[in-house]
Amino acid sequence: MSKPLLLKEFKPKTNLVVPQHYVPKPKFPVIDIHTHFGPIIIKDYENAYDTGKVVENLKAIDVRLVFNHDILWGEELDRLLRKIDGYQDFILTFASLDVTKLDEPDFDKYVEKTFKEHKSKGIRGIKLWKNISLMLKDKSGKYIAIDDERLKPIWEASAKYDLPILIHIGDPKSFFTPIDGYNEYYDCLELFPEWSFYGPEFYTFEQLMEMQENMLANNPDTTFIIAHVGSCAEDLGFVGRLLDKYKNMYIDIAARINELGRQPYTARKFFIDYQDRILFGTDYFASCDTSDIYPYYFRFLETFDEYFDYQSERDPIPLGRWKIYGIGLEDSVLEKIYYKNAQKLLKVNI
Ligand SMILES: [Zn+2]
Repeated sequence: MSKPLLLKEFKPKTNLVVPQHYVPKPKFPVIDIHTHFGPIIIKDYENAYDTGKVVENLKAIDVRLVFNHDILWGEELDRLLRKIDGYQDFILTFASLDVTKLDEPDFDKYVEKTFKEHKSKGIRGIKLWKNISLMLKDKSGKYIAIDDERLKPIWEASAKYDLPILIHIGDPKSFFTPIDGYNEYYDCLELFPEWSFYGPEFYTFEQLMEMQENMLANNPDTTFIIAHVGSCAEDLGFVGRLLDKYKNMYIDIAARINELGRQPYTARKFFIDYQDRILFGTDYFASCDTSDIYPYYFRFLETFDEYFDYQSERDPIPLGRWKIYGIGLEDSVLEKIYYKNAQKLLKVNI
C-alpha cells in the first residue's frame, strides 16, 4: 500500500462534463462598491501599482466606478488621495477615523471635525473594520464592542453628513471555532493562524452578531452597508431576517461567492427576495489582476454553470475545499445588483 496522502497533496481533478461558460465581461455595467487601493491590503501601495493602468484595466471589463476603502484619516488619507489623484471621479473613497479616541471627553468634537474634513476632501463614506470588537481595546483594556454607546457620535455624524458606513464585522464563522479537522477553513487558518479569533479572550461569533443587530436597531437614521453578505454568508436566513427588520441595512457580496455559490438554490432566492438591498463588491485590490477576480463573480451571478472554481489558482488564500454553482439571475435583478442599487444608495451616476 502506498503511504498516506497529506491533506495539502489532495487536489482532485474533476471528471465531470457539464457546460462551461467563462464570463470575462459582465452583461451590464458594474459599480464595485468594495475595493482597496491603499495600505489596509496593499503593502507599499504607493509603488505597488500604476493608478492609470489599473483604471484602464477595470474600464476594459466595464467596471464603471469603484469605491475604495481604507482605515485612514488626516495625512495618511491625503497620501492615498495623492496616489489616486486624477482618477477620483472613477475611484471614490471611503475613509475612517481613530475609534480609540472614544474615551476622550471631546470625542464627539473629534468625530465632527473628521467628518467635516472628509466631506471637504470629497470622501463618500466611512469604512469601519473588524478591528473594532476584535483588536482595538479601550482604556480599561476591554475590546471595543461595536454597539458601545460611546460610538454614538459616529453614527450620528454619518447620518448628518450623509456619509454611509461600510462595515466589516466578524469573519467567516469558522474563524471563531477551533483550527482542527472539523474546521471548514482549515487550509486557510493553517496558513494564516493569526486570522483565528477562537479563544476566551475574543467575542464569539454569536456575540458579534448580537452587537451588529444592536448597532442597526439603535441607529435607524444611519445607513449601514454590512460587508461580506452582512457578516454571515453561511446563514442567509439570518441575514434576510435582519434585512426585513432594519431598512437602514444593505449588504455587499465581497469575497463571499465561495459561500453563496455552494448554496445556489438558497442564494438565488435570497438575491431575488432582497434584490434592492444587495450591492456588487469584490474586495478587488489594485495590485492584483482583474481576471483573477471579476470573471468568477460574473459567472456566479449570470450563469447556471455547475461545480466550478470560485477563485483563481493564483489566489493565495484558500477558502474551503469545495466548488460553486451559478445562480443565473434575470436581467432586471442583475442590473440592480451590478449598478442600480449602488447608483441610488451612493448617489453616483455612470
Ligand atoms: Zn475589504
